[in-house]
Amino acid sequence: MSYLSVAKFGGTSVADFEAMSACADIVIADANTRVVVLSASAGITNYLVELANGCESERREAILAAVRAIQYRIIDNIQHPENVREEIDRLLNQIQILAESAGLATSPALTDELISHGEMMSTRLFTQLLHEKQCPAEWVDVRNVVATNSQFGKAAPDDTKTQQQADLVLKPLIAQGKIVITQGFIGRDEQGKTTTLGRGGSDYTAALLAEVLNANDVLIWTDVPGIYTTDPRIVANAKRLETISFNEAAEMATFGAKVLHPATLLPAVRSNIPVYVGSSKAPQQGGTWVTRDPQPRPTFRAIALRRNQILITLSSLSMLHAQGFLANVFAILAKHKISVDVITTSEVSVALTLDKTGSASSGTDMLSLDLLTELQAYCNVQVESDLALVAIIGNHLHRQAGIAGQLFATLVPYNVRLISYGASTNNVCTLVKNEDANQVVNALHQALFE
Ligand code: ADP
Ligand code: ASP
Ligand code: MG
Repeated sequence: MSYLSVAKFGGTSVADFEAMSACADIVIADANTRVVVLSASAGITNYLVELANGCESERREAILAAVRAIQYRIIDNIQHPENVREEIDRLLNQIQILAESAGLATSPALTDELISHGEMMSTRLFTQLLHEKQCPAEWVDVRNVVATNSQFGKAAPDDTKTQQQADLVLKPLIAQGKIVITQGFIGRDEQGKTTTLGRGGSDYTAALLAEVLNANDVLIWTDVPGIYTTDPRIVANAKRLETISFNEAAEMATFGAKVLHPATLLPAVRSNIPVYVGSSKAPQQGGTWVTRDPQPRPTFRAIALRRNQILITLSSLSMLHAQGFLANVFAILAKHKISVDVITTSEVSVALTLDKTGSASSGTDMLSLDLLTELQAYCNVQVESDLALVAIIGNHLHRQAGIAGQLFATLVPYNVRLISYGASTNNVCTLVKNEDANQVVNALHQALFE
């Protein structure tokens, strides 16, 4: 097959008619882009999550009106609204029915079914827009391609089945010269139920489809012209990175750089598919290429920030000279499907951080009462919240003299709750108060990059 790019446009890129038109122009201008993955229009998924968590009828009506208004503003600018209005109304109606059910009883499966409607609507609208620009766009229900397990809210793809379905559903369309327009974020489990890959999961969908289609690259079109040394919304002096390695980008994503979903790099690394990040509003500004082995590899590459972290400190005097304490703690955490991020230990205590919502689609708290009760039966548990994890990402950080000194000197004015250095050669993590996070990132950026 000739050169093939899978392009993904995020929420702000499909927020309104003008933004969508700019994306359509990008697709049309690049003959290699033959598969397009879309997010829901900006704001829609948040609204749908709120509906799925169950809300009072007044709030429900207000949200439904807001969702309708966002999509109608796009329809109103389309040349032939009659081609999509009926389908959008059907989807909006479906949202209302599901939201009413959620008002009575919520469930993870219902949540995923409901929030999948955002991507359903944006892809219908975008396909119509492309047709009006004489582009041979073909709408595809991605659930016929992306097969997942049944872990609603954060489903894991079944690679083999997804490959088979892509061969059947997508490849013939591409061979016919169609431009496939499909949804990010969602999939289908073995029972035929809709699942989601976790918030921000459309990037992941794009990389998965690129892998099963043997694509040459993945183009992530977003609202920033590339990956920066840190979030440019936090540090005005952040610099764009021309190239960055898969590993470095994966570390950044894991530690909160929202520009890429953390799982996106898995298929890209596995199949060595370069990922490009650029701005859909200003494609001419260029962007960042994420590849396997770009050179040079600086000691400090970037700073990532993840807010709303929880620190759990577990202590027990029986831990002194005892075996099995950590094994038991981890068994309890594993049972509750909690993945631990950063951990420090002493002879009688262990402190570990949790991501409050773990990026599951429903946004529900990871620290459930059940988990706390189980831990408390076993040891003393202290929970601190309103913390932020600041990660310094780089290369061979453990082999460089003076790293710790440089960090400690910069962090002097702040209450640093925890530092993790040494386990990873690619990151150093510190936990600070949420309220100090922006200042800490700015101070570190100035010290390390400016
Ligand atoms: P999309 O809706 O297109 O998926 P996201 O909001 O998920 O977009 O991701 C883009 C955002 O990621 C940017 O607006 C920016 O604020 C944030 N971001 C965080 N860290 C970085 C970084 N290092 N470089 C660029 N953007 C970053
Ligand atoms: N619409 C989903 C979200 O807001 C997925 C995505 O945008 O990637 O999380
Ligand atoms: Mg995103």
